[in-house]
Amino acid sequence: MYRIPLFDLNYDEREEQAVIDTLRSKWISTGPKTAQFEDNFAQKLQADNALAVCNCTAALHLAMKALDIEPGDEVICPSLTFVATVNAVRYVGAEPVFADIVGDSDLGIDPGDIRRLITNRTKAIVVMHYAGFPCDMDAILKVASEHGLRVIEDACHGPLSEYNGKKLGTIGDAGCFSFFSNKNLSTGEGGMLVAGSRAVFDRAKLLRSHGMTTLSYERSKGHSMGYDVVELGHNYRMDDIRASLGIVQLEKLEDDLKERAKVRAWYEEALAEIDEIIVPFKGHKGFVSNYIFPVVLHRSCAANRDEVRKVLQEQGVQTSMHYPPVHRFSIYKGYSRQLPVTESVVERLITLPMYSTISPNDVDMITEALREAVKH
Ligand SMILES: *Cc1c(COP(=O)(O)O)cnc(C)c1O
Repeated sequence: MYRIPLFDLNYDEREEQAVIDTLRSKWISTGPKTAQFEDNFAQKLQADNALAVCNCTAALHLAMKALDIEPGDEVICPSLTFVATVNAVRYVGAEPVFADIVGDSDLGIDPGDIRRLITNRTKAIVVMHYAGFPCDMDAILKVASEHGLRVIEDACHGPLSEYNGKKLGTIGDAGCFSFFSNKNLSTGEGGMLVAGSRAVFDRAKLLRSHGMTTLSYERSKGHSMGYDVVELGHNYRMDDIRASLGIVQLEKLEDDLKERAKVRAWYEEALAEIDEIIVPFKGHKGFVSNYIFPVVLHRSCAANRDEVRKVLQEQGVQTSMHYPPVHRFSIYKGYSRQLPVTESVVERLITLPMYSTISPNDVDMITEALREAVKH
C-alpha cells in the first residue's frame, strides 16, 4: 500500500444505498436507472442526448460506426492516449494516422500536424482531451469543416470540463466518456456516448443492443410486443446497477472537481520553484476535471525519470506514466511515423497523485520529495 496513492475512490454510503435500492427493485439490467443516468448526464453537459454503454471502448466503436467510418478511411488520432482510442479506429477497418502533440506544456493533438496529414482518404479526426484540458477545438473544427471531416472527442478525462463555455464531448460529432474505476466518475466499468445529431444518436442506440428495434425493458412495460433486427449490432448496454452508481457519482462530480482544482493550484505553486519541472497546461483558465496531474521533466533530466519515480515510490508516493505512446506498440508498428514531440515528452512524463481529498501537506511532501529527486 502507498502512503499516497495515485487515485482514491470517493465512494460512501450513498453509492451503497443506490445499489441496494436497485437490487431490491429487481430490475438490474438496462432500465429506468440507465434512462435516468442518461437524462441527468445529458442535462449536466447541456447536450441533447446521452447513451449509456458498458465502457468507453464501446462508445468509441459505436461512434465510429454511427459516423460511417469504414475500411479504406484514414482517421487522424493522437499517439499519446490510451490504446482504446486507436483500437476503435481499427475495429471498423479504418487506418489510424498518428499526429503529434503540441509541446511540453500542451499535451493535446497539434492542429498543424493534423492539417499536414490530411489526404483524400481522411474521414475523421479523433481528439483526446489530456487530463481534461481541452484540445484546440477551434483550430480542429476549422480544419475539419474545410475538409468535410468528422470529429470524435475521446472525453474520458474530461467530464464537465469546459471549452469556450461548452462541455467537452459536446463540441464534435460524438463525445465518448469512461466510467472505469479510476476515472473522475466511477461505476467500475461503464461509459457514455454523446452524439452531435439525432441521426447519429439513433444509429448508436440501435447498435448498442444487437440492432434490435426495442429493449426488453420496453417490452416488459407492455410498450411493445416484438422486435425486428435491422443492423448487425452489439451488446454494449450498461446495467441498472452501474447506472445507479453513476447517478450518485454524477451528483458528486462538480464538488469533487472543485476540490481537484485546489489540489492542482497547490501543486502549481509548489512546483513553480523547481526549475527542472514543467507543469503542462499551467495557469489554464476555465473549469476542468483534472483527471490526472502530469509533470514533464526538463530536457536536462530526461535520463533520470525512472530514478525520480523510484525516489517517490520509496517515500510511499505512487506515480504513473500516461501513456506509453500507441505508435510504439507491437500491433501498431505498421502505422508508425516519426512523432518527435510525443517521443521526447513520453521520456520525461510522470503522473503524480490526484484526487479530491489530497491535503496541502500531502502536496508539500510530494513536491519536496520531487525537489530532492531531481537534484540527483
Ligand atoms: C479510460 C480510457 C479509455 C477506455 O475506457 P474504458 O471505459 O476502459 O473502455 C479510452 N480512452 C482514454 C483516454 C481513457 O482514459
